[in-house]
Amino acid sequence: MKIVMLGAPGAGKGTQAKMISAKYGVPHISTGDIFRANIKNGTELGEKAKKYMDQGLLVPDELTLALIMDRFAQDDCKNGYVLDGFPRTIAQAEALTKSLKDNGDALDMAIDVDVPDENIIERMGGRRACVNCGGTYHILFNPPHRAGFCDLCGGELSIRKDDLPETVKKRLTVYHEQTQPLIDYYTGEGILRTVDGTKDVNEVFAAITELLA
Ligand code: ADP
Ligand code: ADP
Ligand code: ZN
Repeated sequence: MKIVMLGAPGAGKGTQAKMISAKYGVPHISTGDIFRANIKNGTELGEKAKKYMDQGLLVPDELTLALIMDRFAQDDCKNGYVLDGFPRTIAQAEALTKSLKDNGDALDMAIDVDVPDENIIERMGGRRACVNCGGTYHILFNPPHRAGFCDLCGGELSIRKDDLPETVKKRLTVYHEQTQPLIDYYTGEGILRTVDGTKDVNEVFAAITELLA
C-alpha cells in the first residue's frame, strides 16, 4: 500500500496518516516530522530547513528529495507507506512518480483531505504537538486526557512556532500556489480520491477506510 495524503496545512493529514499507519501496518512518513527531528538534533539539514520553515516557506526540492529518497531506502518501506506532507510541489510529485516507475511500481492512491481555509485558522490555533514523539492534539477537537501532556508518551505538548497566525496565513498562500496543483496532477494520474475533512476525526477515518477497502 502506497498512499499520499494531500490537503492544506492543518487539514488533518497527520492525524489520519497515523491512524492509517496503525490500522494497515505501513510506516507513516512525514517530511515535516523528519525536518523537525533534524532541527531538534541540530543537524546541518535541520539548520538549513529551519530558515524556510520558520517563515512558512517550503524547504527547497533538492533538500527534500534527498531526504525522502534516503527514507524510502529503509527496510520498513518494503510493503509501502503513507506519505504525509510529501510531495508538496509538482517537481516533487514528478520525482516520486519517476523513482517508483523506475522500479516498475506506482502509488495506489492520493487522498485529498478537503478543508476550507476558514476552518484551517481555527484548527491551527488549537494544535498542540508532543515535543517528544510528535503526537498531535487539538485543545478543543482532540484534547489529550491530561491537559498539556501527551497520551502516548507523557511528553510535554507545545505550540509549533509555524502555527502562529501570521505564519499560518503564509503557509496557506504557499499551499494554494505550490501544493494545490497536485490535486489536478493526481486526478490526471487517475488515483485522486477526496474526503470531507471538516467531519470529526473518526468520521474522516471511516471515509478513508472505505476508500481503501
Ligand atoms: P503541516 O502538517 O501543518 O502541513 P508539515 O509538518 O507537513 O506541516 O510541514 C511543516 C513545514 O515543513 C512546511 O511548512 C515546510 O516548510 C516544511 N516541509 C515539510 N514537508 C515539505 C516538503 N515536502 N517540501 C518542502 N517543504 C516541506
Ligand atoms: P496536518 O498534518 O494536515 O497539518 P494535523 O493532523 O496536525 O494536520 O491536524 C491539525 C490540527 O487539527 C490538530 O490540532 C488536530 O488535532 C486537529 N484535527 C485533525 N483532524 C481534525 C478533525 N477532523 N476535526 C477537528 N480537528 C482536527
Ligand atoms: Zn508523545
